[in-house]
Amino acid sequence: MLNVTVIPHGSLVIGRDGLIEAVGPTEIIQSKYHAVTFDQEIDASGMCVLPGLVDAHTHPVWAGDRVHEFAMKLAGASYMDIHKAGGGIHFTVEHTRKASEEELFDSLKWRLLCMLRAGTTLAECKSGYGLNLETESKMLRVIERARRELSISISTTYCGAHSVPRGKTMGETVNDIIQVQLPKLKEMIVNGEFHIDNIDVFCERGVFDLDSTRAILQAGKEMNLQINFHGDELHPMHAAEIFALSLCKVNVIPVQRNLHDYEDILLSKGEVFGKQR
Ligand SMILES: [Zn+2]
Repeated sequence: MLNVTVIPHGSLVIGRDGLIEAVGPTEIIQSKYHAVTFDQEIDASGMCVLPGLVDAHTHPVWAGDRVHEFAMKLAGASYMDIHKAGGGIHFTVEHTRKASEEELFDSLKWRLLCMLRAGTTLAECKSGYGLNLETESKMLRVIERARRELSISISTTYCGAHSVPRGKTMGETVNDIIQVQLPKLKEMIVNGEFHIDNIDVFCERGVFDLDSTRAILQAGKEMNLQINFHGDELHPMHAAEIFALSLCKVNVIPVQRNLHDYEDILLSKGEVFGKQR
């Protein structure tokens, strides 16, 4: 964004394929296209034409806000302190499990329309506040409904490995995802219940380690899902480096620290960065 080119009094031409055919100063565009009749002309005088934002990392389906955790953070609690105290993801999971599909859809719709109004034209939307088949599939159905009904474009991500749910070990969770959730989701995709584009894992110390992350991502890859993951967000685990090299088609890696360590390797593979959880 440091090198934004602004074209004052500019025009652009969109082809019937929806792609930009020409862009530049109005007098040049007009002289080039003076003999062409357009299907539609839009007068954007006094306005600014901007590219739509592709938001590569969002968790927009949830119930139970965590505003109260700001006080804990302001008092010095870390992300993991809050997580261990039963806050963070566990709080959202509890409320999202209880929420109805209608309730989740209504709040998702409101959030996505806010994003659309602010310039987002495509949002990657993750599940991940269910951590079991029942609620993860509920969230995916809600995202699917938004994908079909709203004018914002959506890339859907299954993020069942967003955290280890209460009462389960990491190993039990990995088995549940690989042996139970993914095969059932595959059936649901085949039955047309929803579409899933990507799979995501929260690779972090105390959550999913490197081997578990690799196993889940590999299982997703075998279902033709594209690979995303949260890597090196809280602790440096060299996750981005390892998976970008070994699993190749990595699409979205939120790296909040050590960004510069990985920038070259990731940019060489054309990835997009996000930074939320
Ligand atoms: Zn995230």
